[in-house]
Order: sequence, then structure tokens, then C-alpha cells
Amino acid sequence: MQHLFLQEEHEIFRKALRKFLEKEAYPYYQKWEEEREIPRDFWRKMGSQGYLCPGVEEKYGGSEVDWGFSVIINEELEKVGSGLVGIGLHSDIVIPYITSYGTEEQKQRWLPKCVSGEMITAIAMTEPGAGSDLASIETTAKLDGDVYVLNGQKTFITNGIHADLIIVACKTDVNASPKHKGISLLVVERGTPGFSRGRKLNKVGMHCQDTAELIFEDCLVPKENLLGEEGKGFLYLMEKLQQERLLVAIAAQAASEKMLELTLNYIKSREAFGKPISKFQNTQFKVAEMATDIEMGRTFLDQLIHEHMQGEDVVTKVSMAKWKLTENARKIATECLQLHGGYGYMEEYEIARRYRDTPVASIYAGTNEIMKSIIAKNLGL
Ligand SMILES: Cc1cc2nc3c(=O)[nH]c(=O)nc-3n(C[C@H](O)[C@H](O)[C@H](O)COP(=O)(O)OP(=O)(O)OC[C@H]3O[C@@H](n4cnc5c(N)ncnc54)[C@H](O)[C@@H]3O)c2cc1C
Repeated sequence: MQHLFLQEEHEIFRKALRKFLEKEAYPYYQKWEEEREIPRDFWRKMGSQGYLCPGVEEKYGGSEVDWGFSVIINEELEKVGSGLVGIGLHSDIVIPYITSYGTEEQKQRWLPKCVSGEMITAIAMTEPGAGSDLASIETTAKLDGDVYVLNGQKTFITNGIHADLIIVACKTDVNASPKHKGISLLVVERGTPGFSRGRKLNKVGMHCQDTAELIFEDCLVPKENLLGEEGKGFLYLMEKLQQERLLVAIAAQAASEKMLELTLNYIKSREAFGKPISKFQNTQFKVAEMATDIEMGRTFLDQLIHEHMQGEDVVTKVSMAKWKLTENARKIATECLQLHGGYGYMEEYEIARRYRDTPVASIYAGTNEIMKSIIAKNLGL
């Protein structure tokens, strides 16, 4: 299918990336799942080919290309497996905070290593006591001379174990009213005194993806590591969460397309009662329903990506895409597993892994309930 925003150069890029992933990712993905880790070496290989942070300016080592290239990278990584989501998070969720709000010195210090894959990044908003209600975070940072003294705990942080650089949402003014005006973003680097990692979390799915707890105990962060201005952290998060949610929608759509493809292959070859199961009316109706949801999702999503690339206000539509496409993927995972029969429940079949990996997309980057609240609010309710 031809996307709205893609030119010939994007398709040439996609072909080269696929070839790279066929050599460097597909053959190892199952092993990474079992070992519950993506080797750092894979990040460096991605970096050396220009597949990390492609939008970063050339003067910091990037390719300075349009966001269509990022869309392709995220789609192709999702087709390998949802456990690669941390790579898109690095390139298209964390790095944009630095390119948009970082000082020249910060950009020069961090971006080239992020582009090469030498540095892996994360963003830490969620805490044990605050997820959806971000304004209620309790991690604090108090300026003391040249350093911020950071105290608190974060959880569910993607790339948490591997991260060399973490953007941490914290309160620099605990008395601010409204509460969100007290939030700032600090960049914590590997080895900062008082920073440690907690447990690597044991997830239902996305086994190769590292998700961890982070602990800050009188952690001394140089004041030059403040990102943007004090008290503007919440605003920055609200702005950048749009692209994060759009990426989750893009991955969910790619996963749905992949699951249907796997299932179409299976139902044509598996026989029951003397004919392929694709010949039963129930199978055909299920497939027709899924194909319709996928086609409609793709049309809406491509238009939305196009609008996002034009810099339009996409908050309501991004919330719509995020909840609807992740919900589609969840339903499609269930239906596709059912059509695989008992084999669908066996790890040898990819649909089993997809079934485990899919539901979390309704939760992270803002739950689907929060997406519906945003839509309702923007409808004036
Ligand atoms: C695999 C994984 C990776 C993640 N990666 C990151 C990361 O890299 N960085 C990061 O900061 N966070 C990350 N998260 C955290 C994620 O963003 C949060 O889990 C999510 O925002 C929900 O917060 P919570 O888990 O505290 O749930 P809660 O906020 O406690 O919500 C529990 C339930 O209540 C519902 N609910 C809450 N408030 C409302 C409301 N106002 N109206 C209706 N329903 C409501 C929710 O929708 C949900 O169903 C990750 C989570 C997972 C599982």
C-alpha cells in the first residue's frame, strides 16, 4: 500500500532497511526474547547505518531527513517484533526533547552519541504512585549551588537498564499551583552520584525489551542538565506526547497488518473437514472484518501522519488513533490466535508472541481511557 506522505526515496530506504533487518534482527529475535535483552551491538549497527535518530541535523551526525523515514523505521521494527519499541522511543520520543529544548552545548554533548548508538536514552515520567495523573509525581529536585539534588523513584521505564541518558520529570517547585507548573525536566547521565537502577521488570510480553525501575537518592545532577526552562516540563511533555502516541498508533497498525498476513498464510494451508479452513464462512467473515478495520485504520493513520508532518494541531486525532488502533490490534490478536487453533497458543507460532505483546499498547503513552477523556474534553464536554 502506498502511504500518502511517502516518495520513491522512502521506499528505496525501506528496502535497504528490510535487508538490514533480515540479516541483523530477524534471525536473532527469538534468542533476544529468550535472553530478555537486545544486545547493545544491535543499537550500534543500527546507528552505523543511519537508522537511529534520522531527523537529527547533519552537524550533530544525523541525516536531517523528514519524519517519513522515522515512520518507516518504526513500522519495520514492529514487523520484526514489538520488543524493539525502545529503539523508536530513543529516536523519536526522547531525542526530540533534546533537539527542541536543549542548549547548543547539550546538543553537541549528547546528540552525536545518540545517533551512533553509543548512547541509549529513556524518559522517566511514571512513578509507583503516579502514572495517568502525571501532575501528581513526587520526585523532587532542589537546586543547591551548581547542582540539583534529585530524590524519588520511577517505574516501568523503557530502556531503563541500558539507558546512558535519562530525561527525568520532577518537581522543582512542590508548592506550585496548579501542581503541573512545578514540573521540570532534568537529564540524568549514567554514573551520576545517587542514581541507581532497581529491578528489571518481568513483563507479560515484549520480553526482549528492557523495562526497569530507577532510583534517585540525593542524586547530584549538574544544573546545566536542566532541559529548557524550570517549571515548563509539563508543557514540554504535553507537546511531545503527541508524537509518542502517534508512534504507538503506527506500531499498532503495523502489528495488525502483520498479524493478518500471518493468519492469511496459516488458514490457506491448514485443513479441516477436507478443506482449507479459509473456505469456512466464519473464517472468511472474521478475515473480512479484520481487513476492513485495518484498511480504515491505515487510511486514517496516513492522513494523520501527513497532518503531523505539516505541523498541524493533531491532539484530538492522535488520541483517536492511539485508542482505536491499539484496540483494533488487541481484537485482531485475539481473532488471529483463534483462527490458528491450538497451534496459535504455541510459542513456535509468531501469533502467540503477538498475542502477548499487543495489549500493553492500550496502556502506555497514556491509557486508552485517558485518550477518550482528551477527545471528550476537546469536544467541549
Ligand atoms: C511496558 C511498559 C512500558 C512503559 N514505558 C514507560 C516509559 O518509558 N516511561 C514512562 O514514564 N512510563 C512508562 N510506562 C508507564 C505507562 O505510561 C503507565 O503505566 C500508564 O501511563 C498508566 O499509568 P499507571 O500504570 O500508573 O496506571 P493508573 O494511572 O493507575 O491507571 C489504572 C487504570 O485506571 C484508569 N484511569 C486512571 N485515571 C483515569 C481517569 N481520569 N479516567 C478514567 N480512567 C482512569 C487507567 O486508564 C487504567 O485503566 C510504561 C508502562 C509499561 C507497561
